[in-house]
Amino acid sequence: MPSRRHVILASAGLVTASALPALACNAPTERQTEGPFFRGGSPLRVQLASPKQPGTRMALTGSVLDRDCRPIAGAMVDIWHADATGDYDMSGYNLRGHQITDASGAWRFETIEPARYPGRTRHYHVKVVLADGRSLTTQLYFPGDGGNSRDGLYRPSLQMAIERNVGRFDFVLAA
Ligand code: FE
Repeated sequence: MPSRRHVILASAGLVTASALPALACNAPTERQTEGPFFRGGSPLRVQLASPKQPGTRMALTGSVLDRDCRPIAGAMVDIWHADATGDYDMSGYNLRGHQITDASGAWRFETIEPARYPGRTRHYHVKVVLADGRSLTTQLYFPGDGGNSRDGLYRPSLQMAIERNVGRFDFVLAA
């Protein structure tokens, strides 16, 4: 199956998909520490915040891709993050949940923006687990956050693309 980039190039009349060499996707998504606040067994759900949860609403979406930019279906995307005061729920599953990617590799959550907490700029924690056992643990960051430059874990490559309270990020799994 041609990758999305192949299809785009081919549909633009630039080349035929079959003439293209295997086109690598972007570099694999950088791994980061899971930190002390992960809890296994999060619920399968899109809505991570109850309607009464204080905080600015934010949707998170993207895809899980392989190195050839092909979508990976059936991947678990598990997200956990701090609330609007910088605290994690360590007794329940508030602001925690997972999704399974669809045939297009897509995932989506609706939640709130996390606050900074001591030593950390704003971030979401993510764990992606594939059906074959490969996994990726990382964190996503907010472009332009004043806390980024003071957080040694922050990486520009892990910034979401944010538009109108929707944060997008595609995870690329190493082979
Ligand atoms: Fe954290």
